[in-house]
Formats: sequence, structure tokens, C-alpha cells
Amino acid sequence: MLDELRELYQEVILDHGKNPRNYRDLPDANYHAHGNNPLCGDKIVVYLKLDDDKVILDCSFEGRGCAISQASASMMTEILIGKKMQDAQALFDSFHAMCTDENYDPAQYPNADEDALDRLQVMAGVREFPMRVKCATLAWHTMQAAVHGDSTASTE
Ligand code: ZN
Repeated sequence: MLDELRELYQEVILDHGKNPRNYRDLPDANYHAHGNNPLCGDKIVVYLKLDDDKVILDCSFEGRGCAISQASASMMTEILIGKKMQDAQALFDSFHAMCTDENYDPAQYPNADEDALDRLQVMAGVREFPMRVKCATLAWHTMQAAVHGDSTASTE
């Protein structure tokens, strides 16, 4: 279990935690939402700039929280920029199952981008730690809330 946690934190997560990508305000964002994970104390804001075809031209985040929530938000912004919103949704569905479902089978999510899922695999270890699932998925829930017009997302 410790090895797993170590593996979970190491490399990618530490790197993203130390040097979060796209950690910035996005003044011309057309969507944003606040995400709150009270169990851990993670608070983030996710910004999105979509064009008329729902392509994500830019995505950024701000906020404070544990290494996993920050790393997950950082990875999400990197992965989503340039993708269509419907692809982001397919990716989230598959990623959420990866983090929560013991019998997760990527083949059930044929529309989810494989390269992106490979990168997100570093987060899959949270499945063993239910509290951490909320840290890992907070940014994604917040992104969804933003595009659905909700101003806040909470894991509670
Ligand atoms: Zn957290």
C-alpha cells in the first residue's frame, strides 16, 4: 500500500504539483466554475475558453489543495487544450470509471482518447483510497460544472 502511494505521488504527480501547468487566470474565459472538496480542503477555479464549435482553445486553473488535486487539475488542463468538449466528456467518463470502478475496462469507452488515458493512468492508484478519488476528480467535476453553467461544484 505504501509502495502504491509512493508510486502515486512520485514523478508525474510531484512534477505537476511543483510546476503546475496552466496555473493562471484566464481573463477571456467564457466558462468558469469553483470546485470545492471539503473533505480534503481542496479549492480550485477552472477556466475554459471555447470557440463556437466547442473546441477548448484554452483551459487554466487556480486554487489551493493537496498534491493530487493540484496535479490532476494541471494534467487536465494540459490534456484538454485543443480538444472538443464532447471528447473532454468522453475522457472524463472513462477517467472517472478508472478511478472508481474495480472492473474498469477502457474498451467500454471507445470515444475516449487513448493517449490521454495513458497519461491519466498515474491517477488510477486513487481507487484504493476513496477519499483521494475526490481529490483526483475535483478538477474534472469543476470543468463539467463550468460548461453546464453551474458556478460551483462540490464533492459533497
Ligand atoms: Zn485533496
